[in-house]
Amino acid sequence: MRKISATWIFPGNLPPLKNGILICENDGTVIDLIDTGGKLREQAGLEQYSGILVPGFVNAHCHLELSHLKGKIPEKKGLGGFLGFINKLRNLEEEDVEEAMKKADFTMKHAGIVAVGDVSNSYASLEAKRISQIKYHTFVEAFGFLPSRAEKAFLFAEFVESMFREFDLSASVTPHSPYSVSKELFLKIRKRALAENTILSVHNQESRDELAFFKDGNGGISRHIHEILGIDISHWQPTGKSSLDFTLSFIPKENPLLLVHNTFTSPEDIQLLKQQRHLENTFLVLCPNANLFIENKLPPVSLFQKGNLNICLGTDSLASNHTLSILQEMITLQHHFPGISLHELVKWGCWNGARGLGISDRFGSFEPGKKPGINLITGLDLKSLNLTLKSKVKVL
Ligand SMILES: [Zn+2]
Repeated sequence: MRKISATWIFPGNLPPLKNGILICENDGTVIDLIDTGGKLREQAGLEQYSGILVPGFVNAHCHLELSHLKGKIPEKKGLGGFLGFINKLRNLEEEDVEEAMKKADFTMKHAGIVAVGDVSNSYASLEAKRISQIKYHTFVEAFGFLPSRAEKAFLFAEFVESMFREFDLSASVTPHSPYSVSKELFLKIRKRALAENTILSVHNQESRDELAFFKDGNGGISRHIHEILGIDISHWQPTGKSSLDFTLSFIPKENPLLLVHNTFTSPEDIQLLKQQRHLENTFLVLCPNANLFIENKLPPVSLFQKGNLNICLGTDSLASNHTLSILQEMITLQHHFPGISLHELVKWGCWNGARGLGISDRFGSFEPGKKPGINLITGLDLKSLNLTLKSKVKVL
């Protein structure tokens, strides 16, 4: 048994406890969390730390299979430019791919990440996930802009999903984004999601180009599909509405949904979301460092806070981020939005992520019976409870 105390304990789902004590089994299973009322008395066998304790982080959005593209793509080229590089580079240097994924997995573990919602287009990441100590849910991403590709794209995604499930790794078929998935493919994914009540994850409003593509069919997305990929877009009829409207028309409201990025989401979109979804199974995943990398723009976080939406955090891939660390995403958010409390950030990075991935029975909070991982964060301002650029995480 271990008894661990720190200056503050953030339980994940509840406000922080000053000088609290976490009691757990040696394997990390929580036995109790004690509120000392701030008055900690000396006692035998107590591990005491200066800093804060938080549960293991949940990375709600990653692409492990792009790990070999670290440092290969120039920053701030916009989504159209970024996708062009991904398309050119992703299938090169095959021998490094496996090694890069294992290294990224190791990096995440040491950054205190215990669970990951990982988007995959193939089963390339299967071996890295099979031997990992991190809990993965794989979103097997189907895409196909041409209606004629729907059947093939869907069957392949189903096949990849079955490969993961064969090794007891949880997986679900999911659409990439509203601009890369035809209505025909969306309908197939919808049917399956309803039948299996699976979790869905969709890239949402990551760029201004996405808005333009739905408004009038112009912009960087249209150029990417037509000029770079050489795909005929003559069948595309812009809806004149928001891309989120298109996405929501295909996503059953019964299914848990992770909307990823939301960089250009508007107040009207939030209204729409509230009309069309249950808020308790809807999650907005923010990947601020990837947003700065690709678009140099951050999502309207206070709009989501005011709307009482469930916010989670993700790193996106090493193609669009310098590291895979939820703490770094929290630091970036607090730096750009000083009004966000540390309590909120921990809730987003632990508890909401676990809820979004449907694993809050084990992860996300310090509650008896759970085994959520224990992280010590040091190098923060303990008076104001703010992270600093020097904040670090250590897995206890
Ligand atoms: Zn992504």
